[in-house]
Amino acid sequence: MEMGRLNNLNNQQKDSKLIWHPYTHYESLPNIVISKGEGQYLFDENGNKYIDAISSWWVSIHGHCNRYINEAVYKQLQTLDHVIFGGFTHYPAIEISERILNLIPFHNKVFFSDNGSTAVEVAVKMAIQHFHNQGIKKNKIIAFKDSYHGDTFGSMSVSSRSIFNKAFWDFLFDVEYIDLPNENNINEVVEHFKQTTINGDVAAFIYEPLLLGAGGMKIYKPEHLEILLQLATSANVLNIADEVMTGFGRTGKMFASEYMITKPDLICLSKGLSGGILPMGITTCNSKVYSSFEQTDKTKTFYHGHSFTGNPITCAAAIASLDLFDINNILEKIQDINNLHIAFVQSLSKYKQYCRAETIGVILRIEFINNENTSYLNNIKDVINEFFIERKIIVRPLGNIFYLLPPYCIEKTDLEYIYKTIVEFIQTISSNCK
Ligand SMILES: *Cc1c(COP(=O)(O)O)cnc(C)c1O
Repeated sequence: MEMGRLNNLNNQQKDSKLIWHPYTHYESLPNIVISKGEGQYLFDENGNKYIDAISSWWVSIHGHCNRYINEAVYKQLQTLDHVIFGGFTHYPAIEISERILNLIPFHNKVFFSDNGSTAVEVAVKMAIQHFHNQGIKKNKIIAFKDSYHGDTFGSMSVSSRSIFNKAFWDFLFDVEYIDLPNENNINEVVEHFKQTTINGDVAAFIYEPLLLGAGGMKIYKPEHLEILLQLATSANVLNIADEVMTGFGRTGKMFASEYMITKPDLICLSKGLSGGILPMGITTCNSKVYSSFEQTDKTKTFYHGHSFTGNPITCAAAIASLDLFDINNILEKIQDINNLHIAFVQSLSKYKQYCRAETIGVILRIEFINNENTSYLNNIKDVINEFFIERKIIVRPLGNIFYLLPPYCIEKTDLEYIYKTIVEFIQTISSNCK
């Protein structure tokens, strides 16, 4: 490439020339150049101020450039930037592990990786090797239809087959998909689950507790999940809770798994883990899983690791993020946000011809009804995006599924402005329908 020619271009044009963006069709609108973040707001290079209503792809739980987290990171940077994590360890990794395991008292080991997909990858590999190490042959995994667990091959395999991974279907390992349970189908789902586990060859059941994220923000009931978790346990199937999105308060409790009596054998964490400022994944497990790796036979070792495993700076950010939960009474803030969402959902009932709304924790989900099917490719997505960007609100609907997933520092006035904008949007589609 002739670099000289780029000199005449502005940042947006350079970006278009140079960068292949994630989940982005090549004809999409140019990317907005963001130059500053502050709390719940992002600022573009022209000085426009946007509300980040989706926490920058669900990660920035405390908003942007939080001073407390930044100071912890800066302090860590001055003492230890990184160290090989095989044969060596460090205080920030020990402290974050202790803090995480205090929050998950039924688990006793933490394994570090780099993102949500790798946290899932690690959990699935641990589950399979757990049985392999005991000489038990199990080669099946159960997952939900419409689940999303990541974009690496293993995490794609356990995700629902969709347009996201269609090119790779032939290369993905087989998974048994069960429907998301509801009042009407719970008996059939239970029957399907029992039939699938009857031969004893299922290693794991992987699920996003209470809420399927990228598969359409689908909310389901803890009592239904409880039944499936108990069935799995009694069939010697390991339960893997993918809390990459639901973790760190999103559903109203620190972890969505707290809504169930049966506790998972493995938990995957990422996204909000570091306060959303640096990449990190964690997989935790109980002593049942770990014990099958405690063997003198060296071939029973878990041979998995990434170059940046347990990065000290990221650990320091994660510790600071957990501090903020106490300092800022985050779980109460989440309740306040949920109460506002509940009132707004009720007020939307008069538009039930055009949309259906639901809420859990800080998540508000609105399914818009148009003459296309509910799908990621529903064209209303672009209309919604433009409407909200013009009004300086950052959202990223999953087709016709609109959702809010705001940082916890969002204020009541911001939410009221977003609600007002949603109503305006509904009025434009309702007047187009007349
Ligand atoms: C986002 C997400 C992942 C993947 O995490 P990445 O960090 O994007 O790889 C996995 N599981 C769930 C439930 C997610 O929401």
